Parts: sequence; structure tokens; C-alpha cells
Amino acid sequence: MAISIKKNKTQASRIHLCDFENIEFGKIFSDHMFKVDFIDGKWQDGEILPYGEILMAPSISALHYGQAIFEGMKAFKGADGNPQLFRPLENFKRLNISAARMGMPQIPEEIFIGGLKELVSLDRDWIPTKEGSALYLRPFMFATDDFVGVRPSSNYCFIIFCCPVNSYYPKPIKVKVEQKYVRASDGMAGFAKAAGNYGISMLPSMEAKKQGYDQIIWTDGRTHEHVEESGTTNLFFVIEDKLILTPALDGNILEGITRDSCLQLLRKEGYTIEERKISIKEIIAYAKAGKLSDCFGTGTAAIIAKIAAIGFEGIDYELPPAENRKVSNWLFKTIYGIQTSTVKDEFNWIEKV
Ligand SMILES: *Cc1c(COP(=O)(O)O)cnc(C)c1O
Repeated sequence: MAISIKKNKTQASRIHLCDFENIEFGKIFSDHMFKVDFIDGKWQDGEILPYGEILMAPSISALHYGQAIFEGMKAFKGADGNPQLFRPLENFKRLNISAARMGMPQIPEEIFIGGLKELVSLDRDWIPTKEGSALYLRPFMFATDDFVGVRPSSNYCFIIFCCPVNSYYPKPIKVKVEQKYVRASDGMAGFAKAAGNYGISMLPSMEAKKQGYDQIIWTDGRTHEHVEESGTTNLFFVIEDKLILTPALDGNILEGITRDSCLQLLRKEGYTIEERKISIKEIIAYAKAGKLSDCFGTGTAAIIAKIAAIGFEGIDYELPPAENRKVSNWLFKTIYGIQTSTVKDEFNWIEKV
């Protein structure tokens, strides 16, 4: 299926207003966006148009009942100066996994990847090249029925917009093990990048911030004994720079593409990896014994978010200084290097636009 994309280019590029040296994450938007509607059971023609406001009825069901899902991915400039994407098919597949869980229609690959490439190609000058930066891409889909009542919408809208970004977490962060609130539990939608999963995390994060933490480590809903993930990152624990522990994909955590990329790289490098249930007590015991050599979150935005300290039952367990983190420093350098073509792409993760 070839898709047809109407193009309505901006008459007034805003690129000269962007200070590429100092970009605040998520606040600057490139000139264009890609939009396609799903009406009466059919995806319509796609459209590229200037980034800007969209008209919607106050009753659209996404706003009331939460049928809304999203993705997060990045475009970079390769060695030849042309735009390239990192594992875009994985984001496409995951959006459809989220859509299925939320009772939303599947989006065809031609629309998702076709629209993405057209958009990135058109806004290629918005891809920053400063060390650590990228063009963050936000594909998302939401229910647009103009109807009050809890039932799956018949109409949807899919949009992709772009934000130039510099690196996300400049400093290692302090995290708190959350044992009151739950992000997801068995049978829920923890594996989906669904808006509601983030809505329910706001209050717990606000409480953690008040206590001096940057982020939460979620624990399982039944026992609060096992660690799950942190913010929008998957968690890794490194024991004596040899053994790598990460929570197994149990349906309650997001199947991170950065997580998978890290695991493939670590496996190839010969590390011992255990993907399983991980009790917080086990991690704290390693920390107390001075064996927790590294701990970090993985996600598209930051790639690697180093954890400076873990707060558990009122005590903060400090981790080694950032410059001594052998595993996380290597992973960051390797993944960002592959993304920007300074490191060989042995896994064929790069897709040229
Ligand atoms: C997006 C996300 C991640 C990381 O996924 P990536 O594909 O690596 O960006 C992890 N956890 C949550 C809750 C997320 O939303």
C-alpha cells in the first residue's frame, strides 16, 4: 500500500529562533507535523502541515476516557550528514501493541514509517548536532469521537511532531523506592505506552520530589518487594562490574527499546545477565556490601540515566561517582555512537531516512 501525503509547508520557518546550544527538553517544536485521521474504519490520506494547534470538540473521548497512546524515538545525523532513525520498526510495533491493549485500531507500517520519514526529511535542519543531542520524535494516537459515553471511539487521530533536544539528565538522579502507590499490576496495561499510566504517576512523583528525590522506583502491586521501572526508564543494576540484573518483562513494565539494545550489547560483550524478578532487599544488600557498582535507567530520552542514590525506608544508599560507572558510560558511548554513526552499527539498528 503506497500512501499519499498532502504537503502544506510553512511559509515562515521558525528555525532561526531556536538556540541549538541551549534547548530545553520538550519545549521547542520543529516547523512541521504529520497528521492522519482514522474515520469510519479507514485511515485517510496523511498530511504534512505546519506545527500548530488543532481543532477539537470538548467532548472528544480521549480527554474523558483516556484512549490515548504515544511513542518516543529519535532522529540523528549520520556521518554523511543525512538524517537517520534508531530502530524505528520497534516503535511502530510497540505503538500497535499499545493500540491493541487500548481497543484502538492498528496503524499500517506505511503510514507510521512513511509519515515519519517524510517529516524528518522535511525538517532535517532541525536535527541538532551538538554532542548528546537529537531530534526527538513523538508519534501518538488518540480517540476523537465527539460523544459522551464509555465505549471505544470510532474515530482516531495519529500525529507525529518533533522536538530538537540536548541531553536529558545531565546529572545522576536520586530515586525513591515507592511502596505506597502502584504504576501497574497484573492484567493492567503496564506494557502499553498509554497516557493514563503517566497520569497516575504525577502525584507519587510530586510527593517524592517534596522528599528530595528526582524520580520513583516502582515496585510490584502485590507485595511492593520487587523493583519494576523508574519514570520512563527501565532499570539495570550492576554487581561488581560483572553481573547485570534487570527486571524481566512481566507485562507490568514497558518493553524498552533502549533496554533491549543494552541487553544485546552487554550480551555480546560477555556480561552475565539475569532478567528476572529482583527484590529491593537484594539490591539494598548489595549496596550495603559495597557491591552495587552501577545502577541506571534506560530510555530513548536520556539513553542512560545514572542513579546517584536509592532511597529505601528512609535511608539513602549512595552509588559510586558518575565517572567510575564502567558499564553505563560504555553503554551510553556505544549507543549514542551507533546512533550518530561514530561507532559501527553491527546490529543494523540504523535506518536511513
Ligand atoms: C518509554 C518508556 C520506557 C523506555 O522505553 P524506550 O523504548 O527505551 O524509550 C521505559 N519505561 C516507561 C514507563 C516508558 O514509558
